[in-house]
Amino acid sequence: MPRKKTNDTEKPAMAAGEEKALKLIADLVEYAKRKLYLNKYDAVYAENQLLAEFGFDAPSAEKGEPGELQKDILDPLVKYAAERGLTTPEDALLYETKLMGYVTPAPGEVITAFDDIASAKGPEAATAYLYDISVNSNYIRMTDIRKNLKWNAKFPSGDLTITINLAKPEKSNADVARAKAMPQTSYPKCMLCLENLGYHGNPRHPARETIRIVPMYLNDEPWFMQFSPYVYFDEHCIAVSESHHPMAITDATFVRLTDFTDMFPHYFLGSNADLPIVGGSILAHEHYQGGKKVLPMFSRPVREHYAVADSPDVSVDILDWYNSVIRLSSVSRASILRMASRILEIWRSYSDESVGVLAHTDAPHNTITPIACKENGRYVLYLILRNNRTDEKHPYGIFHPTEDMHNIKKEGIGLIEAMGTFILPGRLQSECIKIREILSGGAAPDFKALSDPEHPLSKHFDMIVQLVSEYGTSLSQKEADKAIVERINSTCVKILECTAVFKSDDAGREAFARFMNRIGAEKV
Ligand SMILES: [Zn+2]
Repeated sequence: MPRKKTNDTEKPAMAAGEEKALKLIADLVEYAKRKLYLNKYDAVYAENQLLAEFGFDAPSAEKGEPGELQKDILDPLVKYAAERGLTTPEDALLYETKLMGYVTPAPGEVITAFDDIASAKGPEAATAYLYDISVNSNYIRMTDIRKNLKWNAKFPSGDLTITINLAKPEKSNADVARAKAMPQTSYPKCMLCLENLGYHGNPRHPARETIRIVPMYLNDEPWFMQFSPYVYFDEHCIAVSESHHPMAITDATFVRLTDFTDMFPHYFLGSNADLPIVGGSILAHEHYQGGKKVLPMFSRPVREHYAVADSPDVSVDILDWYNSVIRLSSVSRASILRMASRILEIWRSYSDESVGVLAHTDAPHNTITPIACKENGRYVLYLILRNNRTDEKHPYGIFHPTEDMHNIKKEGIGLIEAMGTFILPGRLQSECIKIREILSGGAAPDFKALSDPEHPLSKHFDMIVQLVSEYGTSLSQKEADKAIVERINSTCVKILECTAVFKSDDAGREAFARFMNRIGAEKV
């Protein structure tokens, strides 16, 4: 039989790997149509862009079938890309985000959809849509978030929520070296700037092709809302100013927070304080944190009721919580804002030496962590009084966890922790396993080795000494775990108590009452 004449323009048969990659591209586009609301036209467009990215001329003949995004589509597709030299294993996460960026509806499209849903079904449905997009685009990496260890710690004076953060992968030495070798750039200026929208990222800066935001006006200034990729609690969102300027707690803060809760009454919004030690990790760009009202502080009752003669329509109360919280509530927006401004102004310059509160030494120390929400149509503002003074005895802060607690938490105590939701470093998991081995090992630990600063458990030295003297070293693994978790829980309570400017002892309560009198409030 004569062989068919070869046609020079005919392509050689496709290698199996290429056919599989084409099918994965089709799967990804089908996934986006179903899970990211990618419309028919944008789906054609996205598939053509993906074909160009991979150097293919035509799509798969097979129809796409979405499976599990990470395992069935992204992992094999990124592996294929690495084999073809389109990316490297080190840049896999950046590349994966780039691919998801092709199939995630464009920012303008998402904003229009958000507004349409908000007008048709209300703000709760609109934020649910944005959250859905943020999860399904893998901007929020749920497979990583689910690795977090999370538990509730029950205490009569207020429960806490504790998370060991395993979602943030520990950086390897090679990653650190790569990031160091990168030239320092000033674009985007920070992790929160609007310019992150669609940014491709680098070893120093996460890829943000999949972030989607919703613009809004707070206090008549342009701001936008996005979800946090770390989901420290349910629907954890961030409101970000469009301009890169430092955090500042002013009267305008209360206006912005209440503007937000007027728009999204199903969410709270709070600001970190504007001073180091008592603030959050990013002080350079004004932003607030919000989400569902699931943080433990929200479920606490009032401890003491007060009344302010010239503001009868505002309830001014002290909350029954570990640190010093004034809870305001009112049906009147104007009245609650006026009261919050009065308290801020007085607190900024308020000193009470008998309890170590000094408003000013070399720099101002008093500030507030404010949190706003709505309850049954009433405006509610929680004002957590803060002070960041240090002295020789407390170089880390007088109202900050002391050094013996730094093995659990050393960083600033921002609003999320101050409200009872603790995010602890991922290293604790492996360290706790090693401490469990000591408590269940049957032999006396080598305290000399443990006290060596180079030892991986040296930071836990005091805690291990206490645990061993209390429980010995013959616990079962389960008993050892329980003992360690209880120690972490009680340390978190102590950390919160450290942040109280007015302690819960008699002297502290009397000092708190004096401050309440100073703002014109009388106990009822
Ligand atoms: Zn910025």
